[in-house]
This record gives sequence, structure tokens and C-alpha cells, in this order.
Amino acid sequence: MTNRFTRRRFVRVTGGVAAAASIAGPGLVRAAAADEAASGARHVNVIIIGGGLSGLMAGRELQKLGVDSFVVLEARERVGGRTLNMPIGGGHIVEVGGEWIGPGQNAIAALIAELRIGAFDHYYDGDTTYDIEGVISRGLLPDVSLSEAVDFGKVAWQLDRLSKKMPVGEPWRMPDAAALDRETLGNWLREHAATSFTPSVFRLISRAVWSGYPERISLLWVLHYLRSAGGLLPVILNDGGAQDQRIEGGSQVISQRMASDLGDRVLLGRPVLRIEDQASKRMRVVTSAETFTADRVIVAMAPADTAGIAFAPNLPKPRQDLVSGWARLPRLPLVKAAMLYERPFWRADGLNGAMQSDRSPIQLVFDNSPEDASMGVLSCFLSVVECPHLADRKLREEGLKEELARYFGPKALDATGYVEKDWAADPWSTGCITPLTPGVLTAGGEHLRRPSGRIFWAGTESAKRWCGYMDGAISAGARAAGEVHASLKG
Ligand SMILES: Cc1cc2nc3c(=O)[nH]c(=O)nc-3n(C[C@H](O)[C@H](O)[C@H](O)COP(=O)(O)OP(=O)(O)OC[C@H]3O[C@@H](n4cnc5c(N)ncnc54)[C@H](O)[C@@H]3O)c2cc1C
Repeated sequence: MTNRFTRRRFVRVTGGVAAAASIAGPGLVRAAAADEAASGARHVNVIIIGGGLSGLMAGRELQKLGVDSFVVLEARERVGGRTLNMPIGGGHIVEVGGEWIGPGQNAIAALIAELRIGAFDHYYDGDTTYDIEGVISRGLLPDVSLSEAVDFGKVAWQLDRLSKKMPVGEPWRMPDAAALDRETLGNWLREHAATSFTPSVFRLISRAVWSGYPERISLLWVLHYLRSAGGLLPVILNDGGAQDQRIEGGSQVISQRMASDLGDRVLLGRPVLRIEDQASKRMRVVTSAETFTADRVIVAMAPADTAGIAFAPNLPKPRQDLVSGWARLPRLPLVKAAMLYERPFWRADGLNGAMQSDRSPIQLVFDNSPEDASMGVLSCFLSVVECPHLADRKLREEGLKEELARYFGPKALDATGYVEKDWAADPWSTGCITPLTPGVLTAGGEHLRRPSGRIFWAGTESAKRWCGYMDGAISAGARAAGEVHASLKG
């Protein structure tokens, strides 16, 4: 990792010591200055670790609350975390990470309105393609018998009803939480479904939403996810659900715009290696390039990603269990790829470009063409472990074309380009989309957002609403900033 530290980029940071007086009081600031002089470390009120949506939102909120002395330390040489725009020519981009927003996602709606970033409807005119239990069908819904449809509806309703017993964002407080966390979604489906179709559709949902299989995913985690999103329908519906709209310019612009507002406070290429929170001393945050001191720290990333940071003293045992359990999870290595075409040819065939499958190497396909349809883009979610023959990038490009031709006809072979992002190979995003296995949530779930000393937790996984989504990342960042502000004042 390159060290991009320059004096110029720290002008605002060092100025922050003076600003700290208003928050921390003059005695503390004098002590800070003495510490700083002794150790050579720079002092700020608050250090935010992670320049994804959550960390940047925390900074934005701190500023609103009048805390000016802070920095955002980001490991990568870019902001945005799990959102990433990739150029595809003609001045267009395609998102290879987080992308869609939907109704009820009030935090992101408010933020983009404030940043004057627009959103537009995803293209869903025409038939969706389904590949379930080896049968390819097209339509609004998959081709099913009445008994299969009734069974799926009944099981979905039972799951939703069960999730409503959970206090929003607090799965550990649900009646029978421990038993539900020992259970897998797969087991529960076996007990409740009367047809093979219902588990197959849930397998499709589970691969798409949680990057994992029903046999491995904790039932309590699934219930928490659904509860935080307001139910199963908001999660699985494309049109009118969580995949309803796209962000103008691509979702990464939200982070880029927030970072630009925060200016020199955002420091790139700063992987944090160690956080020291010794009582009666200043907190110390050590990056690969330099050391900072601070009064409070916000860690804004997935629990699994915090495994790369050493904490002294150790975090409370349940928090450690949460992190180690999370980091060990068997998740589907996930690639989001985009096949590029001269035109969105499938639209003329009455297809909306969406495909969903319970067993194809491609889990999902979406028409991700630019709003003006000046070129065609099919975005695919691919689980590499399920298709070793597509493990290599070049093979993937060719193999994906053939897969797409099965669903959209031979024109799918005439691609003009291909881009992809392999999230499993990214050292800074082990969290990706999370399939929590049994036991992890009850072992340490309460510590998802409970502060550990002067360390506060953000990141979408700590959100009460829309946990796992961009919306959750934003609300979690704002919440952590509020907690820090209150703690500094207190
Ligand atoms: C393929 C894919 C598709 C998705 N689709 C959608 C979607 O359509 N809609 C939706 O709402 N959500 C979607 N998501 C989820 C969404 O992208 C995330 O919920 C959101 O971006 C998480 O933001 P965050 O700030 O909490 O975490 P992150 O974005 O992970 O940010 C954490 C930051 O911390 C940094 N970091 C890690 N370790 C260190 C360290 N030691 N020191 C310093 N910095 C560090 C990372 O580099 C990163 O920038 C998708 C995610 C993926 C991967």
C-alpha cells in the first residue's frame, strides 16, 4: 500500500486540535497538545475508520453536530467501499457493487436529495426469465402450478409473520432467539414447505440476497434481515422493492460527493493496523503510515473486516466472538460482472433483461443499460464456487456469454466488452453480503453496535433498518456520529 501522506493533506487535521477545545474542554486540549508534542502523533477529536458510505456519513453528521476535528482513514486509494463505478465507454459507468435503492429506504433517499443526486427507475418493462428446478420460463412470475404458488405464498407468509415477533434491529431479544439461531433456513423450509418448488425458490432468494445456501444460514439472521427491511416482499421485489431505482451517475458518486464535502479530512491509503484504548490515556490509532491520537473512534465497516485491526486492550469477548464467527463464514465468492452490447437487444424481444435462477452459475441478471439505452448492459451475479469452470476471468467472460445466450438468444454472444469485480479477491471487503451461519448472532449480536469503551461501531451490518444495504450503511453512520457527539459532550 502506498503512503500518500503529505503535510498539505493534514492542514485541517492539525487545525482540529484547536477546534477540539469547544468539545473536549481546554484542560483536555492542553493534555492533547502535550501528548502530541511528546509522541509526534497528530490529535483529532474523532477518527473514523472506513471511507465507505457509513464512515463518510458519520463524518458528515459529525460536522452537522459541530464536531469539526476529525479524519476519515480509508485503506483503499478510493472512497465508496462496497460501491464501485466502473467506466464502460461513451462516458457511461456500470456499478459492480451496491446499486439499487427502493421504497422505504428513507436514509439514502434523504441523503441523495441533500446531495442533489438523482435516481431513475430501473428498466423492468417486459418479461422476466426464470430458471427454476431446470425449467426456463418467462413472465411476470415463474411458470408454476396453483398448488406450488399457494405453498410458496403460505410459507412466505409464515416466515414474515415469524419475523414480526422480533424487535426491529434486536434479534437477540426475540422470544426463542437461541433456538432460532441454532436452526437453519433450510431445516425450517423442510418442515414448512409442502412442495419442492418452495425450497427451490428460497434457494434462489438465499443465493441472491445472502450469498449463501439455506442449509447453512441461520434462521434468526434471515428473520433479522427481513424484519429490518420491512418483510420478504420489499427484499425480493424488483419493481417496487429493493431493486426499484438506480442512482444517476452510479452509487459511488454518493461517497465521492460526501468525501469532496469533507475535503482534506478524508485520508486515502491509510489501512488502520491497531487501535489502543487505554484508560486515562489518549486513544492511539496506528496506520501503516503514521499514528494519530483521538478522543473517540468510529469503526465503519463489516464486523469481519475489523478482524484485520489489532485492539489493545482486547475487545469484550462477545464482540471478539462476533468478529471471528463472521470472518470464518463460508460465503459464496461473489463476482458482479457486466456484459456490454451495442444495444439492449432483448428489449425488442419483450424481455426486461432480468433472469433469476436457483442453480445456474449465474444467480441473477439485470438490464443495467444506461438510462438513455445508448448501449446494452447485462449485469450478472455469479458464484464462482458453484462453477469452477468459470474460475478464471477469461474463461468467465466466454462462459458467461454462453450462459446469457441460453436465456436471451444467440445475440448474447455478440458482446462488445466485459467488466467485472471479484469481491472475494478484495482484501478490504471480506464482509460483502453476509450469510450468517447458526450461532454467530446470539454469540455476539448485542455487540454489533454497543460501544466498546471509546470505540463506536458503524457499517451497514450494525443498522437497525435495511441492514446489509446502502441505506443501512448511511443510517448506521449517522447513528454512530450521534453517539460520539453525545459521549464527547457527556
Ligand atoms: C456485489 C454487491 C452488490 C450489492 N448490491 C446492493 C444493492 O443493490 N443495494 C444496496 O443497498 N446494497 C447493495 N450492496 C451492499 C452495499 O454495497 C453495502 O451495504 C454498503 O456499501 C456498505 O457500506 P459500509 O460503509 O457499511 O461498508 P463498506 O462499503 O465496506 O466500507 C468500509 C470501508 O472500510 C475500509 N476498510 C476496511 N478495513 C480497513 C482498515 N483496516 N483501515 C482503514 N479502512 C478500512 C474499506 O476499504 C471500505 O472502504 C451490494 C454489495 C455488493 C458487494
